[in-house]
Amino acid sequence: MDILVHALTGLILMKVLGFFSWYGIVFSVIPDFISYLPYFIHRFFIKRDFRYKGMKEYPTLGSFFDRLYKINHSLVFITLLFGVLYLLKIPLASYFWFWILHILLDIPTHGTEEDGGIKFLWPLSQFKIKSKHWSEKPFWLIIHLITWSLLFIVYFIF
Ligand SMILES: [Zn+2]
Repeated sequence: MDILVHALTGLILMKVLGFFSWYGIVFSVIPDFISYLPYFIHRFFIKRDFRYKGMKEYPTLGSFFDRLYKINHSLVFITLLFGVLYLLKIPLASYFWFWILHILLDIPTHGTEEDGGIKFLWPLSQFKIKSKHWSEKPFWLIIHLITWSLLFIVYFIF
């Protein structure tokens, strides 16, 4: 799912839960930012090339980011991480559901091709759900229409 949809679904979740915090937005998008921000920083600020060329030109870094992405999108790993944060009474642990929502939205929208698909049970399993990729047309448009409609409903009807 694209970053805008993740941010908007974070807004929807906060409206449903009855509060607003910028941390809700941050934890809705952070799984993708942690994985790709170093790539974009290197690409834009060091190479000064603003075209996205994917990870293929960074074979070593690419596999590092792929591993990071796999960890960030694992329900098992994130549940353990936030369980530790909760036990240590770290307040950010209350944003667990925003990260989980991100993963739950990605699971049915990332396809199953070699590099796609979310291994949400990693490291216990490599299982992926067969789906279309979110960037395919008209799937992308349908996802945005649903997201924007839900946002409108929770903010202006309820
Ligand atoms: Zn993601």
